[in-house]
Amino acid sequence: MDAEQFREHAHKMVDFIADYYKTIENFPVLSQVQPGYLHNMLPDSAPNHPESLDDIFNDVQAKILPGVTHWQSPNYFAYYPSNSSIAGFLGEMLSAGLNIVGFSWITSPAATELEMIVLDWLAKLLKLPDEFLSAGQGGGVIQGTASEAVLVVLLAARDKVLRRLGKNALEKIVVYASDQTHSAVQKACQIAGIHPENCRLLKTESSTNYALSPDILCEAIAHDVAIGLVPFFLCATVGTTSSTAVDPLLALGKIAKSNGMWFHVDAAYAGSACICPEYRQYIDGVEEADSFNMNAHKWFLTNFDCSALWVKDRTALVQSLSTNPEFLKNKASQANMVVDYKDWQIPLGRRFRSLKLWMVLRLYGIENLQCYIRNHIKLAEHFEGLVAQDPRFEVVTPRIFSLVCFRLLPPRNNEDNGNKLNNDLLEAINSTGKIFISHTVLSGKYILRFAVGAPLTEERHVTAAWKVLQDEASALLGRL
Ligand code: PLP
Repeated sequence: MDAEQFREHAHKMVDFIADYYKTIENFPVLSQVQPGYLHNMLPDSAPNHPESLDDIFNDVQAKILPGVTHWQSPNYFAYYPSNSSIAGFLGEMLSAGLNIVGFSWITSPAATELEMIVLDWLAKLLKLPDEFLSAGQGGGVIQGTASEAVLVVLLAARDKVLRRLGKNALEKIVVYASDQTHSAVQKACQIAGIHPENCRLLKTESSTNYALSPDILCEAIAHDVAIGLVPFFLCATVGTTSSTAVDPLLALGKIAKSNGMWFHVDAAYAGSACICPEYRQYIDGVEEADSFNMNAHKWFLTNFDCSALWVKDRTALVQSLSTNPEFLKNKASQANMVVDYKDWQIPLGRRFRSLKLWMVLRLYGIENLQCYIRNHIKLAEHFEGLVAQDPRFEVVTPRIFSLVCFRLLPPRNNEDNGNKLNNDLLEAINSTGKIFISHTVLSGKYILRFAVGAPLTEERHVTAAWKVLQDEASALLGRL
């Protein structure tokens, strides 16, 4: 690597990215290309000889950017946000620059130790119980995604129960979650070999705002125990993907504990809000949890990927995931003096991701991060108010964080058309390229989701988005 060539190229890249952010509103938010669009625009094989960076930039402009959905656009309101920030970007850059592979402490002591420290900082900010801190038996680790986080704790919980019951009990062990739980839990069960018929996705209803009912959980557990099955894992969610439902952690955790189950809390999206004292109540009861996860790459200004996972008993993870081949042996590991994060995750290799989170916490500070969250929630409240003022629409579930679930009411209360009408509205809105929103289905009804959370979004973007929605709704209703 030639340092001067790097300097020249990297400066060009920074300029390119800075200009991208400056002009991001000029692009259609949702990419409007058709499947396979890129195939005919690029050669069939890699070049034999080097090409210039300028030529590549030209291709990025002409061929790549049209196929990009602009997650960082201020007019992006789909799924959940995936924040970038200057701090996150700088951390990512430094991580790419150092390009270490920090699987064991010895492979870069700073990578392991900074990760432990930064996750302790974040745990304290979230007021997680002390057992999640690295000073005791627990600690935090950065996973790539919430899906990996739930998989590793499920494996730890599975092995813990199988050590007690014997390996042949695999077909008897049961996982519980609500039907609003992210499909990552189902995927984790598939990978962990949990029998598909032993994965209980318990029904939720609008009367509990789609939160898991402790009574329904108790009934399911009692039924399973009566037929000789063994409950071993419960996943609760704070801020479900469809509608930000919040499961009652305290009650659920107590049930899990009294049945000897591992209790995991998935706060992938809403966990970030809990750094504000007024939203911390939504994770009350986390004291009962064995593990807790939030995605700093969603709503915490940390560029993808950075999913923070804490466990109370790190030994359980290590017992499931550690290997100790000769070629990785070293004095510090053998003497048990250090954390080797390779034993807390699926892959061996791992990036220096804590740099991003460290940069975010230091360059912004807690007060700014709290303001950032509050501002998005205020913008969502603003949007909710606009929807409520238009009698053609309804807000479907009470808004808690920065997601508004709403729908266009079918004319003459004809529910037969309601789902198609809202699907048509979604398609019409997203094909304008002006904004991008997504959908879900709750109690059989097709619902539109408006998630505020892109770092550049201001009130004027939310107001303009509502105008796009109203105009498209008027056009659609006019055609009926
Ligand atoms: N859990 C919840 C509540 C989510 O909303 C999501 C994604 O939106 C996930 C888990 C999965 O996240 P990841 O892509 O980090 O696996």
